[in-house]
Amino acid sequence: MNPYTGRVSCLRASWLSGKTRTKEYRVSQLEALGRFLDEKKNVILDALAADLHKPAFEAELSEIALCSNEVNYAINNLYGWMKDEYVDKNLATQLDSAFIRKDPFGVVLIIGPWNYPLHLVLVPMVGAIAAGNCVIVKPSEISSCTEKLLAELLPTYLDQDCYAVVTGGPQETSQLLENKFDYIFFTGSPGVGKIIMEAAAKHVTPLTLELGGKNPCYVDNSCDLQNVANRLVWGRCFNAGQTCTAPDYVLCTIETQEKLIPPLRQAIMEFYGPKPKESPDFGRIINDKHFKRIRALLDSGRIALGGQTDECECYIAPTVLADVKPCEPVMQEEIFGPILPIVTIANVEEAINFINSRERPLALYAFSCNCKVVNQVLDSTSSGGFVGNDTMMQMTLITLPFGGIGYSGLGKYHGKFSFDTFSHHRACLLRSMGLEKLNYLRYPPYAHRSLGL
Ligand code: NAD
Repeated sequence: MNPYTGRVSCLRASWLSGKTRTKEYRVSQLEALGRFLDEKKNVILDALAADLHKPAFEAELSEIALCSNEVNYAINNLYGWMKDEYVDKNLATQLDSAFIRKDPFGVVLIIGPWNYPLHLVLVPMVGAIAAGNCVIVKPSEISSCTEKLLAELLPTYLDQDCYAVVTGGPQETSQLLENKFDYIFFTGSPGVGKIIMEAAAKHVTPLTLELGGKNPCYVDNSCDLQNVANRLVWGRCFNAGQTCTAPDYVLCTIETQEKLIPPLRQAIMEFYGPKPKESPDFGRIINDKHFKRIRALLDSGRIALGGQTDECECYIAPTVLADVKPCEPVMQEEIFGPILPIVTIANVEEAINFINSRERPLALYAFSCNCKVVNQVLDSTSSGGFVGNDTMMQMTLITLPFGGIGYSGLGKYHGKFSFDTFSHHRACLLRSMGLEKLNYLRYPPYAHRSLGL
């Protein structure tokens, strides 16, 4: 007997009762989610500090504020999003009503990773609640303090007939996935994403995959390199580099590489002081396994800045690797740590070819004072998102869709895109019983009838 079947069935019964469909109900649950974020802020910050040594400012910004923003945006816009969308009609349907109904899918499963363990289950959950679904969330078992907090506290705010938290790792998730869901939303690694896709295929369940990969960052010769360095170091070292949209590596000419290293040193010094290990603003690697994986990547290229590690604390210093070859280990996998390799190229065309010869990334960044160069990179490449002259700021705009392409994922969310992701766009045509004579044109016998095309 599958241990989760009972829970999924209870949620399905609630969904079938129609309880989650009214606007008032959805708003009441979104408001409850907002209260959870507000009232439990301090315990959330404590859990994130225990899991990831997450600096309080980073946690407030990236986990709590972005979630609250989504909650408020959904509450304020829900009425408009839910409205039937009337569409243009043809001659034969002039007397009819033709519209798109945004129907909830039913029972939705949301599976999250450990790097933003609150944000990456609650932001999709906002969209799923707003769209009128019942939801099971499965946070990552690796960020165990946040997992425990969500399992204990979320049910005290939300209607337990419609929303549940399931804990556990791969084994529990596999058992959970044996059940039929109406939509699956997964955030995590591409390898596990394939497993989720296979499980979804068994029930022909639609899904979103928010995956990872290597995000390139092209830096042109023309830039103010201190500004570039500030924005690069912030993006690379936020959450100790464990961000899916972090700039993963830099592509620039050898001259720019040499000019960029001193400003990178200055940015690291300004942000984290001479001893980043003692800075309250610099996080830690999630666990020993990831620490060892990332430490092994320090052998690529030459260490231009940083390179210090401390296994007891899972600490890896902000590090810049210069003269990295494309074939070296650091360029084979997503780094997910505070290491920034620089690969030198001859010009922007070579950078574009380099980017296009690899899997399509979740994010792509290009720095140049010349907007033609930024646009050249934008026009000649493909990626989930793109930012000119900064890193990671696309995440802060609720009006932009967030998602990957190709190996970096499937589907999109944030703001209204989340509502649409968790809604089935149902094609509705309510016909008039009049004008029957017109209908005779389509009824057999068809003899001597032609469309004249
Ligand atoms: P992961 O794929 O190892 O785990 C994600 C979730 O899947 C967890 O809840 C885990 O319990 C579950 N899981 C793991 N193995 C499983 C299995 N065999 N069967 C069923 N479920 C399984 O990812 P992670 O290490 O938690 O997170 C890091 C990855 O997530 C990185 O690749 C990163 O780029 C990606 N990520 C992507 C985004 C995005 O928005 N695109 C955001 C954050 C992280």
